[in-house]
Amino acid sequence: PIPGLANVGVVGLAVMGSNLARNLARHGHTVAVFNRTHARTLAHLESYAVDGTFVGAETVEEFVSSLERPRRIIIMVQAGAGTDAVIDELLPHLDEGDIVVDGGNAQFTDTRRREARLRELGLHFVGTGISGGEVGALNGPSIMPGGSRESYAALGPILESIAAKVDGEPCCAWMGPDGAGHFVKMVHNGIEYADMQFIAEAYDVLSAAGMSAAEVADVFREWNTGELDSFLVEITAEVLDRVDPETGRALVDVITDAAEQKGTGRWTVQSGLELGVPVSTIAESVFARAASGDVAIRDAAQGVLSGPDRALGDVDRSALVDQVREALWASKVVAYAQGLEQIRAASEEYGWDVDVATVARIWRGGCIIRARLLSQISDEYAAGGLATLLVAPSIVAGMAERQDGWRRVVGVATSAGVPVPGFSSALAYYDTVRADRLPAALIQGLRDNFGAHTYGRVDRPGTFHTPWSQGG
Ligand code: NAP
Repeated sequence: PIPGLANVGVVGLAVMGSNLARNLARHGHTVAVFNRTHARTLAHLESYAVDGTFVGAETVEEFVSSLERPRRIIIMVQAGAGTDAVIDELLPHLDEGDIVVDGGNAQFTDTRRREARLRELGLHFVGTGISGGEVGALNGPSIMPGGSRESYAALGPILESIAAKVDGEPCCAWMGPDGAGHFVKMVHNGIEYADMQFIAEAYDVLSAAGMSAAEVADVFREWNTGELDSFLVEITAEVLDRVDPETGRALVDVITDAAEQKGTGRWTVQSGLELGVPVSTIAESVFARAASGDVAIRDAAQGVLSGPDRALGDVDRSALVDQVREALWASKVVAYAQGLEQIRAASEEYGWDVDVATVARIWRGGCIIRARLLSQISDEYAAGGLATLLVAPSIVAGMAERQDGWRRVVGVATSAGVPVPGFSSALAYYDTVRADRLPAALIQGLRDNFGAHTYGRVDRPGTFHTPWSQGG
């Protein structure tokens, strides 16, 4: 390190950037900090000097000249126009070989565009996923960088130093060129949507069996000590346990039941459609949020559409709890299988050569979907040769053990009028891929009938058309 010069810079000092800068400083890096509105920089310097050494800058010129070369600059601003504005401002002051990192939640297609632009100028552009929210940014996130392999040599050690650690290994690794890092982060968020939908359905089914929010919280707390051990299951217990001080009711019962979204789930589904990869569990989760927020339709339908009253009646609660646990585990595995398959398909499409075992490995800590299950998934992919996670030996065995409970939950919930779009779409995918024969044959017959689209035959190669009485 050159005395007086910072070895890394952070642009954007809202909660994520500020916490990331503090994390860097706590790990002994000298961090140059800059924010469009200078007051934020001053506030950061004033509040966080205890964390380490910061070099505050009022202008971009000052910021850039306070960094050792090759410069490593992490942008943590509002995704989209904010990122482009900062890049435009930085560019005139940078030198060949400098590394510009975008740690925001960028669309991977934007990252591909920015990477190509900066590469032309002799600069490295690294789109990186950073997951773990504000707490993760401060204490150790999961970091998913893309960009040139060369840039990782200069940048990797810094990112690895601040990442979460599991079994002594950093939850940070080079994902692949250009948009690979942001793609992996996007799918991470898509899986997060599915995970949360499954959790919500588990809660809904247990509630329909007459359990209170506090009782369901106990169940989740218990689950968090076993196979479902994960951050989201842990915080589910915390949310369900919280009592609203104003009303004395469970807080979850006074929260509006319309789930919002920022868009990364939708991006995942859009990309799945484009790649032709069925990410059905993620799609159902995005749609379930949209349906929950469609107040006009829900108001019109409530009390008008007939159906069972959402009560499970006289069930053996402890058996149901076990079955729901099994449904949750099995559905989660399907969501991971679908998401990781999407990463593999994108990797092929864009020539990224992403190692799926590494992706699962760096998701074990720091990020929102961190879970015990990810170690098993990573090991299975590392063993190699999987057409899908679902055929990995330990997963095959795990599904065999749990599927009765899973099917029972879907059946019982459906009969009682409790919607379980996540659980049931995961189960439908499982049954689809294991079927020896699908009704897709009939779809081919119909397509040939109305559109002469032709079909293949099971008994010989070739393309066939049948003369139908109408159409075709
Ligand atoms: P944010 O609210 O998304 O953005 C605010 C920051 O962006 C401020 O520093 C603001 O500067 C700056 N900014 C906005 N437009 C700008 C422009 N045109 N030029 C220069 N600076 C501009 O901040 P955040 O919540 O900390 O998130 C930062 C990034 O991390 C986002 O991409 C977000 O998607 C991503 N992320 C967030 C989380 C999370 O939990 N919050 C988790 C993962 C990833 P001023 O102070 O001057 O307004």
